[in-house]
Amino acid sequence: MIQAPKGTHDVYGEDMRLWRHIEDEIRKITDAYGYTEIRTPSVEHTELFLRGVGDTTDIVQKEMYTFEDKGGRSLSLRPEQTAGVARAYVERGMYSQPQPIKLFYIGPNFRYEKPQHGRYRQHHQFGVEVFGAYTPATEAEVISLGHTLINRLGVENVNLHINSIGCTECRPVYHQRLKDYLTDRLEKFCHTCRDRFIKNPLRILDCKIDSCQALLTDAPLVLDALDDECRIHIEELQLLLTSMNIPFIVDPKVVRGLDYYTRTVFEFIAPGFTVLGGGRYDGLIAQVGGQPTGGVGFGMGIERLVLQLKENENIPATTGPTIFIGHADSEGARKAHQLAYQLRQAGIQAESDIIGRSVKAQMKYANKIQARHTTILGCDELANNLAKIKNMETGEQAEVNLDGLSNFF
Ligand code: ATP
Ligand code: MG
Repeated sequence: MIQAPKGTHDVYGEDMRLWRHIEDEIRKITDAYGYTEIRTPSVEHTELFLRGVGDTTDIVQKEMYTFEDKGGRSLSLRPEQTAGVARAYVERGMYSQPQPIKLFYIGPNFRYEKPQHGRYRQHHQFGVEVFGAYTPATEAEVISLGHTLINRLGVENVNLHINSIGCTECRPVYHQRLKDYLTDRLEKFCHTCRDRFIKNPLRILDCKIDSCQALLTDAPLVLDALDDECRIHIEELQLLLTSMNIPFIVDPKVVRGLDYYTRTVFEFIAPGFTVLGGGRYDGLIAQVGGQPTGGVGFGMGIERLVLQLKENENIPATTGPTIFIGHADSEGARKAHQLAYQLRQAGIQAESDIIGRSVKAQMKYANKIQARHTTILGCDELANNLAKIKNMETGEQAEVNLDGLSNFF
């Protein structure tokens, strides 16, 4: 038997219902917020991710599916979508439209990771990106959008953590302080952290290993090293979130794994994993070849949201078809299919039997799929053009002219 590749999933049945529910809410909320959808390719030039995600990141160094195509180009399956959206902003000249540009996306990403709970090789993200905006009101808008989605879906046990990692001016000062602190303790950190010490010491704060975290309890904080502009920026964001009644925790441990972040970073954290991560990335557009442009965005893992919703037992109920039109003979069957067609044209969910079941088996099936009404068509019904429609919830029966069936519902 051929199996799906490791770390990938088939989404169907109850899960698909949840996905649809999530996507419907996403579309309603992004509409209200004025974000329009963008679909970028699942595959991009590898160079884009080297520049747009950063060649010191785990994503680029360890997790990317990179291959040479038949024309000898180095391509990669996208591990995330911000870089592609940023490329599109520059390549499609969106900077010459009225700013800010507010976009959202939903789609698959690929990372060669060790599969585990909430971590897959193909995962899907809903994300938003705002370009051409520098004020903290941008972060407030984007965070409030994520907050609204999580609230509307009824996801419980998720907390918003925010932090600032400074800008190109003040971050080097912090880097030095952190390096001074780490130098004496370095040999006690894990192999990956020791590697990070050289390439990007900030990311050591992000290490998931407990023994590394224990060594960091007295480490200097980024928040204490911010310059005035960065400090005012994060303070203003806090005022805005408070005015919107959005609870948050200022958490100096949130640093995010990607190179492009400046100033604000944030995560919505559930027990066990981060559901949504994002921040400001004023350097990104220049990094992929455009003019310096302010930007804020987030990515939210849909699989993790689904896991969290199931944990909360927050699954939308199934609804059966409006009517199951059964038949007692072959003429009845023909009529049943024709009526089902007519009802479906009118947008009414109708089912007829297409696998040749007996009357008894048809009714059993109608029950199983939770049809809200049933009827059976035979020679009497066809002769009089009348049928008994049974309401499966109340047991009531009504005699209805078959020409007017769609008006019955
Ligand atoms: P983590 O620290 O959990 O590895 P990350 O920092 O790599 O997350 P991002 O690159 O910021 O994650 O992606 C944004 C969101 O996408 C994450 O918060 C998570 O919900 C989801 N996500 C990332 N990688 C995976 C994966 N391999 N499987 C499922 N969801 C993922
Ligand atoms: Mg990761």
